[in-house]
Parts: sequence; C-alpha cells; structure tokens
Amino acid sequence: MTKPEKALIFELSQPGRVAYALPDCDVPEVEITELIPASYLRSVPAALPEVYEVDVIRHYTELSRRNFGIDNGFYPLGSCTMKYNPKINEDVARFSGFAKIHPYQPEETIQGALELLYTLQNDIAALTGMDQVTLQPAAGAHGEWTGLMMIRAYHESRGDSRTKVIVPDSSHGTNPASATVAGLETITIPSNARGHVDLDALRAVVGSDTAALMLTNPNTLGLFEEQIVEIARIVHEAGGLLYYDGANSNAIMGITRPGDMGFDVVHLNLHKTMSTPHGGGGPGAGPVGVKQLLIPFLPKPIVIQRQDGIFTFDHERPHSIGRVKAYYGNFGILVRAYTYIRTYGPEGLRHVSQLAVLNANYMMHRLAPYFHVPYPGVCKHEFVISGKQLKQYGVRTLDVAKRLLDFGYHPPTIYFPLNVEECIMIEPTETESKETLDAFIDTMIHIIKEAETTPELLLNAPYRTTVRRLDETQAARKPVLNCSCN
Ligand SMILES: *Cc1c(COP(=O)(O)O)cnc(C)c1O
Repeated sequence: MTKPEKALIFELSQPGRVAYALPDCDVPEVEITELIPASYLRSVPAALPEVYEVDVIRHYTELSRRNFGIDNGFYPLGSCTMKYNPKINEDVARFSGFAKIHPYQPEETIQGALELLYTLQNDIAALTGMDQVTLQPAAGAHGEWTGLMMIRAYHESRGDSRTKVIVPDSSHGTNPASATVAGLETITIPSNARGHVDLDALRAVVGSDTAALMLTNPNTLGLFEEQIVEIARIVHEAGGLLYYDGANSNAIMGITRPGDMGFDVVHLNLHKTMSTPHGGGGPGAGPVGVKQLLIPFLPKPIVIQRQDGIFTFDHERPHSIGRVKAYYGNFGILVRAYTYIRTYGPEGLRHVSQLAVLNANYMMHRLAPYFHVPYPGVCKHEFVISGKQLKQYGVRTLDVAKRLLDFGYHPPTIYFPLNVEECIMIEPTETESKETLDAFIDTMIHIIKEAETTPELLLNAPYRTTVRRLDETQAARKPVLNCSCN
C-alpha cells in the first residue's frame, strides 16, 4: 500500500518562479548594509527552491500529515497526559492584549497581563496546596531543577550541607538528572512488590545528609502512595524536604493536594495537566509552588498585588535563587493554562480527574485478560501492563507498539517505568469517548491474536507509515534533516 512518491520541493523548483509578487515599493528602500554590517551578510544567495505558492503550501501540509498529533488521533502515551488542547485556549492566547505586548512595556500598560499571571499563581497555589508560585520554569524538568535549587538554598541558609536526593526506582529519568544538574547526588530506592515506596528501604537511606525525597504521586505505575503521610514524616523528621513531581496531577485535581500530603515543593507540567500544547519541545511551562519556608528562595521576580490594587513585579527578593528563565516565563502558554482553569472551574477540574481515573480503570479491566497486569487492583489515571507473555511467539512490546501505528494509533509509552519487564504504560485521559477507548482496546486484542498466529506481521510493522522501522538511536544521534535524504 505505498503511495506514489510526491516530488520534493527542491525538485519542483524552476528558476524565476515565485509564490507572489507585490507591486514595486514607492517608498525609498533602506540599504540593507545600513541595518546589518556587511560582514554578517551572505556572499552567495541561499539555495532556496523557487516554486509557486500552492507548491509551498502543499509541501508543508504534506509534511504535517506525516506527523502524528493529538489533533489527528488517540495518543495514549503514559506519564505524558496527551490531552486535547481546547481551541478556546488558542483564541484567548491570540487576543492582542496578550499576544502583542512586550516584556519591556511599562507595568501600567500591562495590568491585565499581570493580573492574569497573579491569578494563575494563586490558582496553582490553591490547586496544589502551596503558599506561593513561580511561573518562570519552561518545563517540568526545569521546574524540578528550580525546586531543587531552592531546597539547596534553604539547607545552605541554615548552615546545613545536605547533598543527597532520594528517588524511587519507578521515578522519571528527569528526577536524577535534575538532581545532578543542581549539584546534588541521587540515591535510588527499590519499590516494594505492590509498586509503592518501600518504607524500610526509605528508612535505611534517610539521614542527616538527606536534602530531599522526590516523588511522583500517583507514581509512574499509576498507583497512589497510600503511605504518603508516613513517608513525609520519615523525611521531615530527618530534616529533609519533599519534592512533588506533578506530572501525574491529572489524576488528583480537586481531590487531594500535594501540600496536604506533606510536600514542600511542587511542579506542574502545564502541557500535561493544563491542556497546553506539548509542542516539539516547547515553548512550555512548569510552574513551581512552594510552602512558606521556601518562599524567600523563589526565582525573581514574581507578580504581586499592591495595597492599592496595582499589579507589579517584585524584584526585591534578596534570598532568591535568581531568574531561571528570560523575562517571566512562556507567557502565551500561561494564558492557555489560565483559560483552561477558568473554563472548567474547580468542579470541572475535579470531574476531569475523576473521568481520567475512570477511563484508565475501564481500559485496564478490559485488557487484563490479554496481558500480564503486574499491579492489579484500582489504578489512577494510567496503568501498566506487561507484554512479557508474547515472548513465547518471538514478539516484544516494541512490536505491538509498531503494529499499533498501522491502525492509526500513537503507541502508549513502552519500556517505562524501568522496573516492569516489557512494560506498556497506557494513559487514556479524560478527553476520549467510550467509543474511542473501545476501538483502541479492540485493536490491542486484535494485535495479541496476530502475535499468536502471524507473529512476523508484528515483527515487520509498521507498514502504513511514511517511514518504516527506524534505527532510533541513529535517528536521534545523527538526524538527517534535509530534503534529499533518499
Ligand atoms: C513528563 C515527566 C517529567 C518531565 O516533564 P517535562 O515537562 O517533559 O520536562 C518528569 N516526571 C514525570 C513523572 C513525567 O512524566
């Protein structure tokens, strides 16, 4: 089922073709060298294709169709919360009062934008049970680093040199990475047989050198740490702080709060919990909330409201860890998150989490007869199953994932968390209909049957994508980015 190859944009190029031409300018043109020094100018014109407008449009539209995105299919990637990006968010982000302002504008001309930031800080504080929030960090991982730098500054301010960060073996790779970049060392503790933090293992490593425990709750197995209050007590008694990795907050909004569980710092990934686009690596936002004891160390500035009602940036923060992002963070993304929160309201956000959890449990229940379920019982917004029983047919989880592409699905997360063999991690989210969930489940069951009868079908999948199986390591290390790759 291969389509005839389309001519590449460079092959369509003919000298002299243009997309459009405007009438000659009747205003004297400025010499380009008056604006840009000659040494910075090209000596040879860029080798761009010369094509008609329709050719350019078709080229880029075709490229976009080769991609998979949340707007063209179900995207059950676990620990990522690939939920629908409401289009109203886009409308609001394009309001000229938000889209056309400049970070150097006088504060009195951007009171609306500042009020939005201020309100969003407070909303996130209320939702997470924290006392103050910074909106600067550009991603979850960036939030982790920001939080750990504050934790470091806090311990140092007390003359306490603590360097160890404890993470469970189910933790996301960014946790130890952020700790390392923040100049701290990671200690990994094993999970117990039920997939939870092993309290004895925690007690064995916690001590006077413990800077923090980083935890995702519900964890990356989709399980809520029922012993969280005890965990917090153990860490606090040893003088350490608790960092909440908020990537899985889609499961708990309006139901429980990290602040109430005993956490001191939280990040939220707005592209997970607050429906902002995941994008190709950005722009993103990972706001960080802190309890009272860490407020002095927050990045500066933060937005405050003066007694007279005026909103302003507070730069007078002598203990601040400094700025962690240019200007005030990715403002356009913050507008989208604000819009999402206003659209749903507190009750709506709670309902989002309830549905996300319901959908995950429905799927896990229907898939359970066909896969090994390492942690049976009730899950939160996502769950893990194992494809290890497929090994008897010479098939692996990777092959199931590749075969799903032929049916128009983005595969779930695979081989993460690392502590489950042949792991498949599914997060349906709240935004999908029962029909979509059922169709995906039926496809998974169909693929299992294929594995039993015609395993080679899976081993060579996918068949219907633009490119087939890639050497993923080489693709990441040595990407071929130009048009004439074949
Ligand atoms: C996604 C994720 C992160 C990292 O967040 P980014 O916003 O991608 O930097 C950290 N921890 C967990 C558990 C995650 O799922």
